[in-house]
Amino acid sequence: MRMSKMHFHTLREVPNDAQVTSHVLMMRTGMIRKVSPGVFNYMPLGWRSIRKFEQIVREEMDAKGAQEINCTALHPAALWEESGRWYKYGPELMRLQDRMGNDYCLGPTHEEIFTDIIREEVTSYRQLPINLYQIQTKYRDERRPRFGVMRGREFIMKDAYNFDKDEEANNHSYDLMFDAYSRIFTRADLDFRPIEADNGPIGGSASHEFSALAEVGESEIGYCDTCDKAATTERLECVDDPAETEEMKEPVDEYTPDCKTIEDVANFLGLPATKALKALMYKAEGKYYVCFIRGDRELNEIKLINAINVPEFALEFMDEAEIDEIGGSGGFCGPVGLKNCTIVADSEVPGLRNMVAGANKVGYHTLNINYGRDFTADIVVDLKKSKAGYKCPKCGGTIQITRGIEVGQIFKLGTTYSEAMHAYYRDENMEEHPIWMGCHGVGITRTIAAVIEQHHDDKGIIWPVSVAPYHAVVTVVNTRKEEQMEVGMKIHDALKAEGIEVLIDDRDERAGVKFNDADLIGFPVRITVGKKAGENIVEYKLRKDEEATEMSSEDAVKATVEFIRSELARLAHDPVGDEV
Ligand code: ATP
Ligand code: MG
Repeated sequence: MRMSKMHFHTLREVPNDAQVTSHVLMMRTGMIRKVSPGVFNYMPLGWRSIRKFEQIVREEMDAKGAQEINCTALHPAALWEESGRWYKYGPELMRLQDRMGNDYCLGPTHEEIFTDIIREEVTSYRQLPINLYQIQTKYRDERRPRFGVMRGREFIMKDAYNFDKDEEANNHSYDLMFDAYSRIFTRADLDFRPIEADNGPIGGSASHEFSALAEVGESEIGYCDTCDKAATTERLECVDDPAETEEMKEPVDEYTPDCKTIEDVANFLGLPATKALKALMYKAEGKYYVCFIRGDRELNEIKLINAINVPEFALEFMDEAEIDEIGGSGGFCGPVGLKNCTIVADSEVPGLRNMVAGANKVGYHTLNINYGRDFTADIVVDLKKSKAGYKCPKCGGTIQITRGIEVGQIFKLGTTYSEAMHAYYRDENMEEHPIWMGCHGVGITRTIAAVIEQHHDDKGIIWPVSVAPYHAVVTVVNTRKEEQMEVGMKIHDALKAEGIEVLIDDRDERAGVKFNDADLIGFPVRITVGKKAGENIVEYKLRKDEEATEMSSEDAVKATVEFIRSELARLAHDPVGDEV
C-alpha cells in the first residue's frame, strides 16, 4: 500500500494528558484518537495491530476447543438482578433506560448473558463441557480512566465462559485456559508472569492474573526470591510475627497532645511503631467497622472487604461525627469501649503485648493494652498489605515487589452463577446438578498498550512482528526520481507476493520526516531506496538495530522475508497441547 494514500497523521507534540509512553506513542503515531475520557477511536494503524492480536487470541482459544460467538452489549437489568450484581457492581456499571423506562446496562463483563444462554440450551451432561467466547467492546465507568487505552471506559475484551459437569472437569478447563493465555502473551512477545489473584466482584474460588511486567503497571506484584510464589499484593498472604511472650502490664492513660498519627505517638512516647495499635475506621452499607493492625503494618482494603463481605465501592472512611457515635475519638481511637461497630483485628493483633492505643478521649492514649484481657474482636483475619522484605508465606524466603499491567485474568467460578441463575444439567441418572463455570478475560486494547510499554525506544515503537501493523516499509528518499520509485515499487510488489505486509513511503516529504515516521511507527523492517537506486543498491535496516546494510534490492527482499518468517516462527503457536 502507498503511504501517500493511507489515512494516518503523526504528531510531533506529546499530548499533555498522556502520562505513560504507550499512551504518548499511540497518540503520536495516530493509532488512536481520544473522543472523551477513556473513550477512543481506533485509526488504521492502531486497528491493524488490534486485529492481529485478536487473531492470535482467536487461534489460541479455538485450539483449546472454545467457540466464538458474539453477544449483545445491551444487557437487561433483570439478568443482573438475578445474579445480585445490579447492586453489587456499583457505579462502574453504565446504566441506561429505554423509552418504556426499562433498565439496562452496557456490559462490563458477560457472566449473566452467557449463563442465560446455557440455562436455556443445556439440559444434559452429554452437552458438556462447553467453552464459548467473544471479542467485543466492554463498558465500565472507571473512577479514573487514564493511561490511554490501558484504563478505558470503553475497551475491547476477549471474554470466555466455560461450563462443566463437575469440579474435576472445571479444573481441567481452567488449566486449558491457563495454557492458552501463556501462549497468547508469548506470541505478543510480552515479558509476563501468571500470578495468583483476588477474585474480586466476579466471585469464585481461584484466579490468576497474567501480568506484563512494567514500571507503569497498576498491579502490584509480590513474588518470592526463593520459590515460585507470586501474587498480587492484594491477595498475597502475610506471615504474622511470632506471638509476644512479655508479661501483661496494667493499662495506664498517657496525655499525648497533638499525637494523631502512629508516628507522632511513637515519637512522643519513644516507642517503636510495632508497639502501637493502628485504628482505621470504615463504614459500608450503613454499618461501622473499626480495624486494628500493628502500627508498622499497612491495611489492605481488599482483604477487609473480603472479610466483611461488602462490595469495594461501598467502603468509605467514617467521618468525625460517626466516630463520636461509636464512642471513638478521631486520632485517639482505640479498641476499649467502642460500641455499635464491628471490630476487625488483623491476625497478628492477638499475639501482641502491652500495646499503645488511642484512649477514645481527645489528647490521650492508653499504654499496655492487650487483646483478650482489654478487648476482643468480632473478626480476626489477615488484613496486612504485603511489602518488600516480608516473609514468603510458602517457603519463608523474602518477598520482592514489582509492578505489572494486568493483561488477562482467568477465574474458577464454581457454581455461584449457575445456582443464582438456575443453570442446571441432568446426569446419567436424571439427577439435577448446578453447572460448574469459569470465566476468562483478555484485555485486547490494553495488551497492545502493554506491548508498546515493553517494546520502544526514544524514537518510537519497536513492534514485535506478530502484532506490527505492517511488517516492512520501503522508504523512497526522493519520489520525484523515477528510478527510485521504480526500484521501490519493485521491492514492494516482491514483498507483497511473498505475503509480507508492506507499505511504500511515496509521500512528497523530506527524507528526514519519512525516517522519523518509520521509527516512530516502528515497522520491524525498513528498506531505503535512495541515490544508489540506479545501481540497484538499497539499504536494509531492522528497527531494533542501529546499523543499516547496503545490498541489492533482491537481497533486501530475501532478507526481509527471512527475518519476518523467522520472527513469526519464534513467536508461533506450537500445536502440541491442542484440544480436539
Ligand atoms: P483492573 O483490575 O485493571 O480494573 P479487572 O480485574 O477489573 O481489571 P477483568 O474483569 O479481569 O478486569 O477484565 C479482564 C481484562 O480486561 C483485564 O485483565 C484487563 O486486561 C482488561 N480490562 C479491564 N478493565 C479495563 C479497562 N478499564 N480498560 C482496558 N482494559 C481493561
Ligand atoms: Mg482482572
